[in-house]
Amino acid sequence: MAKIAFIGLGNMGEPMAINLINAGHTLKVFDLVKEPLLRVEKLGAAISPDCKKCVEDADFIISMLPAGKHVEDLYLGSGNLLAHISKKSLVIDCSTIDVKTSIKVSKAAEELGITMLDAPVSGGVNGAKQATLSFMVGCTKETFSLVETLLLKMGKNIFHAGALGAGQMAKECNNMLLGILMAGTAEALQLGIKNGLHPKTLSEIMLKSSGKNWALEVYNPCPNILEQVPSSSNYEGGFALDLMLKDMNLALQAARVSKMEIPLASLATELYEKHSLDGNGKKDFSSIFTAYEKK
Ligand code: NAD
Repeated sequence: MAKIAFIGLGNMGEPMAINLINAGHTLKVFDLVKEPLLRVEKLGAAISPDCKKCVEDADFIISMLPAGKHVEDLYLGSGNLLAHISKKSLVIDCSTIDVKTSIKVSKAAEELGITMLDAPVSGGVNGAKQATLSFMVGCTKETFSLVETLLLKMGKNIFHAGALGAGQMAKECNNMLLGILMAGTAEALQLGIKNGLHPKTLSEIMLKSSGKNWALEVYNPCPNILEQVPSSSNYEGGFALDLMLKDMNLALQAARVSKMEIPLASLATELYEKHSLDGNGKKDFSSIFTAYEKK
């Protein structure tokens, strides 16, 4: 069984860490917030006083942080963690961050003789809890073979997307599409409600018709259609709207660099931006459904 350092126990990191504990691995954990640390300690993890102590002696180091600035700051900036990581450790960053930062940090690790890879995930908090996440991994084939078994303890589908940064690029494309699909699903449901349809009936119809999609099927944005989704608990937990906004902006940035237009993503980003400015940034992104109620 492996010795694992897990840094970042937020909505996703905590259930992912729990799955690794349940699989029999030895975990040392670190986060800036105390509550999740205490919860995983009860399940057998050891709390580290800082990130440097956390990575000591680890076979694998996993980070699950909000955005590129957090990852860069941890490994290269004020945390300067790379300087404290053994060449024997394998570093797996599961955060969704921009490709440029991801490659920059991984290359800096490489210069120190440390192997680091990008492995962002998809599947939401329920996917993290049920260990059914999809992992999109950017690294060499050899490195992929070293992490696949471990990632299977947290996910069901582990994809080798390509070289360093390819995992992040795949994740950007996926989340851009998810952002569009969620906004479109909310829009269709609200149009139906406004015209006398019951959202549960309409959801059932569309799930058996060509409008079927992931947002409708497992993450319905209308409250009380599905159990255990953020819309049925006042849009708490789940995937923060501001994190989705971050991902939409990553896709827009990639499109600018590639000199292409992505009009659907641009429009959906505007909707999420306005909804965030209205005070919903910390709520789940499916709360975009409620933006239509005001109109
Ligand atoms: P979150 O905000 O709930 O958790 C992030 C955690 O990182 C927090 O607990 C925070 O305290 C901790 N943290 C920040 N800086 C730190 C540091 N320097 N050292 C230690 N801990 C630090 O976010 P989340 O929803 O768990 O998402 C994490 C990442 O996964 C993001 O990049 C997000 O885009 C991505 N993601 C989220 C979901 C989802 O459904 N929530 C799904 C797929 C991917």
